[in-house]
Amino acid sequence: MNDDNSRDLYERALSVMPGGVNSAVRAAIEPYPFFVQKGDGGHVVDADGNRYIDWVMGLGPLLLGHDLPEQVQASIQQKASEGPIYGTPTEIEVDLAEFVVRHVPSVEKVRFVNSGTEATTSAVRLARGYTGRNKIVVNQGGYHGAQESTLVEGDHENPAPSSAGVPQSFAEHTLPVPFNDEEAVREVFEEHGDDIAAVMTEPILGNYGIVEPAEGYHEFLREITEEHGSLLIFDEVITGFRVGGLGCAQSEFGITPDITTFGKIVGGGFPVGAIGGRAEIIEQFAPSGPVFQAGTFSGHPVTMAAGLETLKFAAANDVYDHVNDLGDQLRGGLEEIVADQAPEYTVAGTDSMFKVIFTRDGEAPTNAADVQNAETDRWRRVFWGQMKDQNVFLSQNQFECQFVSYNHTEDDVERTLEAYKDAL
Ligand code: PMP
Repeated sequence: MNDDNSRDLYERALSVMPGGVNSAVRAAIEPYPFFVQKGDGGHVVDADGNRYIDWVMGLGPLLLGHDLPEQVQASIQQKASEGPIYGTPTEIEVDLAEFVVRHVPSVEKVRFVNSGTEATTSAVRLARGYTGRNKIVVNQGGYHGAQESTLVEGDHENPAPSSAGVPQSFAEHTLPVPFNDEEAVREVFEEHGDDIAAVMTEPILGNYGIVEPAEGYHEFLREITEEHGSLLIFDEVITGFRVGGLGCAQSEFGITPDITTFGKIVGGGFPVGAIGGRAEIIEQFAPSGPVFQAGTFSGHPVTMAAGLETLKFAAANDVYDHVNDLGDQLRGGLEEIVADQAPEYTVAGTDSMFKVIFTRDGEAPTNAADVQNAETDRWRRVFWGQMKDQNVFLSQNQFECQFVSYNHTEDDVERTLEAYKDAL
């Protein structure tokens, strides 16, 4: 496969950008990332003209795929052409906020920001401000963006920064526990209960394999947080408006979190984040409350238009049926291939999320430790040596999930399954 243009672009990029990229994960592509020239439906075309079936979909925001429906495009273009931003509110922010409040039962009020990271950062500050407490409980293997309070590893007895530049004194306020481990959560509440502001969790771990909650885990988190006057934050940056459709994963699980963070799909492919929840809590944000929160670009009209029209299109068409159906076909086909050719591996996912995890025991992982056992080298060989050469674009590392879009077709699924069959 010719990749001269991508190689040249990467060399240029390396001389002016750290690692040649603007987000760490993108450099995981070996020996260098392919540079995309354009998207086309469920595919991308790179700078050398190679076409790939794209299961990365911008790492999640593109529910509809690369070809946006006419009304989505028209609304984006209108907002862009009317002068991009004003520093004062616009109607379309209210329209999107009303849509979110109407469809996500736990959300009575919402604030829009510019990334998932900004949403989780603000949610943590909000939880601390509302409760007057310091500590946040997170799940090992969960990802909540590139922020100081969650770039923390280890366990609740020895939390440590997972990145240079994060002070130990910040990490001390973050308590990591294994996903699905009720006993560990009980322990941290026994020890720190009156200083725990919130438990923050992805409803389904989407950045580390794909790990689903055990039966009753979220109900347990809901109960124990309530008991101790702590908040439950669902980080639905990936699952929001994907798993469980417009009601999000929380409606699928029947859980009412106090705060929900959104990103990705709610901005229709443009930079976005949002913090929603009970009115009494969200009202703590400035200017109605004492928790400072602000942003030049927040509620950007182009983003609001893309998000609103995307979600309206999904509400009016068979988007969720289509993506979930193709998701089922992919997972079903992969399960057969794995059972036949690599029975020790696991097919993970739900709705329009999927991943083959190279765990060695053939059991669905229940927490980060299970995923950590995954065969990273084998995955690299399969991905870089096999799938990409067969023009299938999968997420750049072993741990991030892959996404089906409305533009994908049964032909894409069949060709992808053939490629996996060959690769595995
Ligand atoms: N939370 C979760 C669950 C995420 O998956 C991500 C990003 N993949 C983030 C937060 C951070 O979002 P962003 O990259 O938009 O800052």
